[in-house]
Amino acid sequence: MTQTATDSQQPRTYPPPAELAAGAVATAALYEEAAADRLAFWGRQASELLTWDVQPTQVLDWSDAPFAKWFADGELNAAANCVDRHVAAGNGDRVALHWVGEPGDTLTVTYADLHEQVQRAANALSDLGVRTGDRVAIYLPMVPEAVVAMLACARLGAPHSVVFSGFSAQALRDRVDDAQAVAVITADGGYRRGEPAPLKPAVDAALEPRDGAESTVRAVLVVRRTGGEVAWTEGRDHWWHEALESSSPVHEPVSVGAEHPLFVLYTSGSTGKPKGILHTTGGYLTQAAYTHRNVFDLHPETDVYWCGADIGWVTGHTYIVYGPLLNGTTSVMYEGTPNTPTQDRWWQVVETYGVTKLYTAPTTIRTFMKWGEELVSGHDLSTLQVLGSVGEPINPEAWTWYRRVIGGDRTPVVDTWWQTETGGIMISALPGVTSLKPGSAQVPLPGISVEVVDDEGRVLPAGHEGAGYLVLTEPWPGMLRGIWGDDERFRDTYWSRFAKEGWYFAGDGARRDADGDVWLLGRVDDVMNVSGHRISTTEVESALVSHPSVAEAAVVGASDPTTGQGIVAFVILRESAHDTDPAAVGKELRDHVAKEISPIAKPRQVLVVSELPKTRSGKIMRRLLRDVAEDRQVGDVTTLADSSVMASIQAGMQSGK
Ligand code: ATP
Ligand code: MG
Repeated sequence: MTQTATDSQQPRTYPPPAELAAGAVATAALYEEAAADRLAFWGRQASELLTWDVQPTQVLDWSDAPFAKWFADGELNAAANCVDRHVAAGNGDRVALHWVGEPGDTLTVTYADLHEQVQRAANALSDLGVRTGDRVAIYLPMVPEAVVAMLACARLGAPHSVVFSGFSAQALRDRVDDAQAVAVITADGGYRRGEPAPLKPAVDAALEPRDGAESTVRAVLVVRRTGGEVAWTEGRDHWWHEALESSSPVHEPVSVGAEHPLFVLYTSGSTGKPKGILHTTGGYLTQAAYTHRNVFDLHPETDVYWCGADIGWVTGHTYIVYGPLLNGTTSVMYEGTPNTPTQDRWWQVVETYGVTKLYTAPTTIRTFMKWGEELVSGHDLSTLQVLGSVGEPINPEAWTWYRRVIGGDRTPVVDTWWQTETGGIMISALPGVTSLKPGSAQVPLPGISVEVVDDEGRVLPAGHEGAGYLVLTEPWPGMLRGIWGDDERFRDTYWSRFAKEGWYFAGDGARRDADGDVWLLGRVDDVMNVSGHRISTTEVESALVSHPSVAEAAVVGASDPTTGQGIVAFVILRESAHDTDPAAVGKELRDHVAKEISPIAKPRQVLVVSELPKTRSGKIMRRLLRDVAEDRQVGDVTTLADSSVMASIQAGMQSGK
């Protein structure tokens, strides 16, 4: 691995702001406690953060590894923990959601409102025949009913499978079939980019008999959002509002064992076919509450928290729904895209609601950088106290921009590494404790154990130059309990890469700097090999993004007759650089990378593009770019956000030859 610019320049670090540190919920003592007795530490978190119907006496049962059991003899209900107990504690009037619709309509949902809605919805589902253990697919836009629907399922102990509402009928059917869902909760449509977009037709198409087989779905609940015309299948389809109105507002939550399935969620599909990740109740909720509280320094009485993700991916599950509600948080929930009606929509929302904690993805931050900071400067963002990032490595350039422009040069930025499989954040700074280092996810949270290892599984020491593999060396409460219906794939994908029993292979490359801080280097499948040097996609991309003309970059290794692989870079220019000559930009960027990293990392080719292929959750799909760079037919694009992107990149590649 080549040296990074960040190493040679000794990155600047940012100590916690004194005021934040003084009142922070997490202190350095948390690390000591977890190091002294990890399982006792988790046991304490579970009993203090959750309300159990039957207190667990066991913490971890790892006897059937890699199938873990956490808090196995405890019993609880997820929805009661998210809602009922706050109402019972006298906080029913607290706002749970400040919901903002894309067309400008808004709704305030208190904990008492949620309580009533969730009970009615649970009764409605139950009347439609949904039983404890049945799977329910949720295919909804970012409306409050999505939260209610998830909690109603949880109240019944019916695992939900949320499918991103931008996915096709085909993708929905694949997921419905895989989980054998008995019901679907959807809407007539939703608003995206200023237009109502129909949803129900995709559900109708998805539930048609396929290869002669009927779908497993018996009931469809339809939320009215856009008021558009919908086709109706009598007996199967029911309006959500009618079903809720006619249902009792009282529902006794079903107490389930800690290991009862809470949900199945399919991964983003960045590297291939999505996997149905199974999460269970007690452990997942413990980690959701613990990480949300400590990483965001959450003070439920005063904070206004906003996670800009979609409920269709895991960040939405853990950090829009379960984590915030378990902690009794007031959250903002936004329906639409950041540029509708104007590119400063997010900053209007932050200003209007006085948002204190904001959590988003590097792709969104880089988009804001591309649009320019003038859009931000007209807004008062002084309420913000902590900013979070998730989904991809955040380039130091984007990190510093986020802190300076959005965070007013004051706020900590926590870069949080985790996966659908981990259920919650695993590696992150604690904003009141850690001195921050832009570009590094830094340290495992108290209670989490990670190592960076080489090909043979030997632990690489801090300061080791080469790229290694990130492994999680001890089980954690929020860990996946399997891949739905595929134990073999579960073992193969995560548990068999290294001979060491119980090591979880994350699939991400990493290294540890001299301070021991972890740097994520991109997916192992994406690491490039140029003339025998292993070069990380993340490092080359960060070097490109550090150039003032570049807003976003994706690099891939394409097979090369002389060097094994040659680096091909795809870049999006900042709006301010749009008039520059592409050939000149190409040369300048190649030289820039050579200077920032090393001549070996110099891209063979730089292609200026207007968009990059991304998953629905905003992650760059490098495997598709590799197909283009190697002149192959482009692979599976079902999880791609915008399918026209690949055609335009291919055309650009052809004309660039
Ligand atoms: P699939 O597993 O189907 O290919 P995916 O890995 O993109 O999809 P997710 O579980 O949504 O699905 O994403 C987890 C991955 O996102 C991590 O393994 C890592 O590659 C990346 N990631 C998430 N957060 C960070 C971060 N803070 N820094 C670096 N990488 C991150
Ligand atoms: Mg993954």
